[in-house]
Amino acid sequence: MMRFLFGMIVLATILTGCKTAMGVKSNDSNIVYDNDDIFILTKYKIRKGDKLLEILNKINLSSTLNRNIIKKFCSFQDPNSIQPGKTISLKRKLNGKFYSLEYDKSVDSTYLIINVNDSLIVLAMDQDIITKDEYICGTINKNLYTTVINYKESPALALYIEKIFLGRYNFYHDICEGDSFYVIIRKKYLNDKFVGYDRINYIKIKGEKINVEAIYYSNTEYCGYFDDSGNSLEKNILIAPVSYEKVTSDYGYRKHPITHKRSFHYGIDYAAPIKTPIYASADGIVIVKKYKRKGMGREIIIDHRNGYKTVYAHLYRFARGIKVGSNVKYGQLIGYLGNSGLSTGPHLHFGVLYKNRPVNPEKINISSRYIIKDNEYANFTSQYGYLSTLAEKYSTNNIKLTSAKNKTTIN
Ligand SMILES: [Zn+2]
Repeated sequence: MMRFLFGMIVLATILTGCKTAMGVKSNDSNIVYDNDDIFILTKYKIRKGDKLLEILNKINLSSTLNRNIIKKFCSFQDPNSIQPGKTISLKRKLNGKFYSLEYDKSVDSTYLIINVNDSLIVLAMDQDIITKDEYICGTINKNLYTTVINYKESPALALYIEKIFLGRYNFYHDICEGDSFYVIIRKKYLNDKFVGYDRINYIKIKGEKINVEAIYYSNTEYCGYFDDSGNSLEKNILIAPVSYEKVTSDYGYRKHPITHKRSFHYGIDYAAPIKTPIYASADGIVIVKKYKRKGMGREIIIDHRNGYKTVYAHLYRFARGIKVGSNVKYGQLIGYLGNSGLSTGPHLHFGVLYKNRPVNPEKINISSRYIIKDNEYANFTSQYGYLSTLAEKYSTNNIKLTSAKNKTTIN
């Protein structure tokens, strides 16, 4: 009888109070009508330091069920590192029985743990993300970061462009005011709202010191950016894994700037502003991550498993998720440039070891990571030609743009 009455109250609330089928707030839970069923929906906005178990405890499930939910949750996310600001939605039947847990892992993926006949199932759901190709062209004003912001783009675009040319161009020196850039980029939208960049498919920078054009190309072995000769822009190893202002110390003998003793400098010092991103020089595994108040300060060493190891020292901080044993990819963010340890100013000390002996990074044989093979060359050049012509067409036709200046959607 009580249950029937409760059900009636719920129904009455829904019928009178809510036209959108979202219910009326009851304590911190809502009653919702979904798929011909009625649920109690409880949403938790995750705060810093929250653990999944603490959140589950708020809705009084049995400890066995909590354990099982956490076990399922582990299959897509570490339950102890749920992201602050995101929401966990829990649905229960009106009798209190657990029905589902929903977690938005990223803008384009949501995970659902759902109770089907008393067994828990994990579902991955793609959000309705749509992608649009857009053409952006413009002129560099001050630097790449200011420029993209002026064009109402996110600073992530500047980082993206910088990473494409990492090891080939140094954006502090090679990009000048007045240089032109042309980009064909695929962007992601959720409900007409921009949620991120998917991929740059074409890029050209034309200027005083740079004249470069590249396309994105993929095959079963490799994906990345290529010049018109079919050489990947990525190298076998990055010997400047940071955008730097200047080299303050080369490999070799020098008078130490602090101790003033003549000693051998086993690396290259790249000076740049504090917090400049530092990237892994090649694929590998992190074997050292340590902090020493003196000496190298915050330091990372990566083993590239081919006899080479790379050393990154004096970091400001380590990138999130980087730990000893982490597998890292070429160009992956590993930390931020700093001034920790025995250091006179913000810089990256970068060293290379071969079979555990220091070598001069500048003496290493640098080659492209991938070169287009003869049998795919025709396919590659036709794709290159297509994108290059498309960009040319947009730039010479002086496209009239609708939404934002110098931007257009490619249909
Ligand atoms: Zn150094």
